[in-house]
Amino acid sequence: MSDIQLPEAYRYALTQQLGDEEGARFLHSYNQPRTFGLRINTLKLELGSPVFHKLEHLFSLRAVPWCPEGFYYEESTRPGRHLYHAAGIYYIQEPSAMSAVQLLDPQPGETILDLAAAPGGKSTQIAARMQGKGVLITNEIHPQRAKILAENIERLGIRNAIVTQATPAELSAKFPLAFDRIMLDAPCSGEGMFRKDPAAIQEWSEASVQFCAARQRDILHDAIAMLKPGGTLAYSTCTFNRQENEENMAYVLQTYPFMELIREHRIWPQQSEGEGHYVALLRRVDEGDEMLASPSGKRSRKASSKQRGANHAAMVQQEFEAWAKDHLRGFEPSGTYLSFGEAIYMLPHSRTMNPDADLLKGLKTPRPGLKLGVAKKGRFEPDHALAAALKPEEAIRRFNLASDSADGSAYLRGETLSVPDSIKGWTLVTADNFPLGWGKASGGQLKNHLPKGLRLQL
Ligand code: SAM
Repeated sequence: MSDIQLPEAYRYALTQQLGDEEGARFLHSYNQPRTFGLRINTLKLELGSPVFHKLEHLFSLRAVPWCPEGFYYEESTRPGRHLYHAAGIYYIQEPSAMSAVQLLDPQPGETILDLAAAPGGKSTQIAARMQGKGVLITNEIHPQRAKILAENIERLGIRNAIVTQATPAELSAKFPLAFDRIMLDAPCSGEGMFRKDPAAIQEWSEASVQFCAARQRDILHDAIAMLKPGGTLAYSTCTFNRQENEENMAYVLQTYPFMELIREHRIWPQQSEGEGHYVALLRRVDEGDEMLASPSGKRSRKASSKQRGANHAAMVQQEFEAWAKDHLRGFEPSGTYLSFGEAIYMLPHSRTMNPDADLLKGLKTPRPGLKLGVAKKGRFEPDHALAAALKPEEAIRRFNLASDSADGSAYLRGETLSVPDSIKGWTLVTADNFPLGWGKASGGQLKNHLPKGLRLQL
């Protein structure tokens, strides 16, 4: 018998679904320890590089069979508490959850939506595959979770993501037929969470499965409305029942004859090392309405407000560029500058989407692109997101620490550091050459500019 007390109705349903023998093996998997995984952020670290081998050793990494960047780690090594985690060179992610983006297969330059994205496991995986090219709109309905999503997008140094906090219906009204690929990792009854979070068992009931399945169908309608003709949708859950998985896909195929199912794939905890996941890949095979394919093309704009906005953006852009001339080299993000008050962002663009203030109007956007900094009365202050997104060689002034040094931990605690007198002004602080954040140096002291909310007691 498992220590985990499963509801009788759940044991019965899964035994019915899997048959007696496989059902027994499935229920027995609750006696096995849960799995732990991390995914290397290939935007910052190359697989096979010396630091990668160091991580292999530090965290006893073993390859996840279905994801080349995915690895199991030993729980006791606690990679989430390491300075490398703060530097964004990996993301802690449940191993089976890595299978969904693998199936979606995002490509650089595309226009992609992650519709239910927080805390950001799948978005950060999509962004790594996009290699900074194209547009990734990453959305989360709940404000607090959207904030965590934005922090993770920043920590991993992602340049081409726009974080929105909207309902699926608000997004589909804004972006009809707009995306090459959509990831829908749907809110579900979480049957695959029971080993990781036994409290989730208390929330399970047959009624909650029905409720989740109906909510997923609602979200699927909006997701399909946003797919370009020929576009693909990956639908995933971390739950095992058929209502929220295969039956919802059958519903989609029946309701939308222009959708075809390309593949369905399940990871079961009794068969593989992982907590379990369901993924389906669907394609839209109709022609759609080409007129709607470019959301930025079909909007009318008020020339005067557009002009005022453009003037302000141009002014803030000049302030950033003047600062960048003295502090950055070879940093040439392509996109559109956007100013929000004193703050300036770089919005990404793709072959078919060129987001600007008009397109985002009316949407809550906790992070409308890469935040470059704020222009305060003629003085430009770079943002932490810019530091995290830089390659170390793109900063003219750097102060490098060893990841295992006392100074490394002191920086993450928010302390002032002693630096050589020759270092002056805005300086990128790095650990083993991975950006940690900004500091401002004068008189042999480096004032710490790591945002207060990101300071850690390592
Ligand atoms: N994709 C995320 C990742 O890989 O880190 C995990 C997403 S989680 C399975 C599902 C998300 O859907 C949650 O963040 C939840 O807040 C959000 N959600 C809940 N209700 C929703 C709704 N009605 N529409 C869209 N998203 C919803």
